[in-house]
Amino acid sequence: MHVSPFDNFMHIRPEGHFLEAVKSFKNAGGASFNLVNFPEGTYGKNHYIDLYEKTLRVGKSIRNLGINIIITLGPYPADYLHFQQKELNPVDEMKNGIDIAVKLINDGRADALGEIGYPHFNVDNYIYEDSEKIMIYAMEKCRDYDIPLIMHTEDMDQNKYKKLENLARKYYRTDRVLKHHANPQDLSIDNSILKSLVASRQNTRAGVESKKDFLLESDYTDQIEKPDKVIPPYSVPKRAEMIKNIYDNYEDILFRIFNEIPYKFYKKDFFLE
Ligand SMILES: [Zn+2]
Repeated sequence: MHVSPFDNFMHIRPEGHFLEAVKSFKNAGGASFNLVNFPEGTYGKNHYIDLYEKTLRVGKSIRNLGINIIITLGPYPADYLHFQQKELNPVDEMKNGIDIAVKLINDGRADALGEIGYPHFNVDNYIYEDSEKIMIYAMEKCRDYDIPLIMHTEDMDQNKYKKLENLARKYYRTDRVLKHHANPQDLSIDNSILKSLVASRQNTRAGVESKKDFLLESDYTDQIEKPDKVIPPYSVPKRAEMIKNIYDNYEDILFRIFNEIPYKFYKKDFFLE
């Protein structure tokens, strides 16, 4: 059986280990990943255009190495604070960032919108509420153009998942919304939002044993000053080996998390090749 490990969330940066990180993913057996723009701390006049174009250039270099990728573009929830500091209207700026990303996706240059949602640290109530307005705007845009939506949020309990599910149902569809950096215990919550787990050994085992649908990600941030954060770029292909060594029905498990579920969510043919 041909195993094609898919990492559902990676940042790759020319300022980081860049293609060396991709090679270490590939050498471990990795086949494809979701490349997400990195929230750079620099905010120029055309922030989102510059950021997205940079990500698309990185994407081209990655494809040249024979790796299939999904490209995810969008404003990062904590961008809010930067625009605020610059005395710009964060909601307008970030909606504009969504519009630019949606246009690139509709032009066929990228695949998904993200990471959208709430800051993962405590913020004033009005910022949380504004973030929700931006998120709803993103859901509506994704609904209009049938785009997969990748969420970045704080750790969520049952009530928060319920709320997110209700918003997705009202403004989009629950099966087109995914929570990245989810915790394995989230899988025991009765909720239809797809979860992507950070692929530690423990999380991967918990995910498999839950028998629920999930994806695996390294959430690799490719920062020289924070090496191997969140976990190293070769983690997901290593976990594929681990699954193969532990579970008799590994073929079904791997096909589900690397092919079937990603195909259902992203609708890209390479998942079925
Ligand atoms: Zn994130």
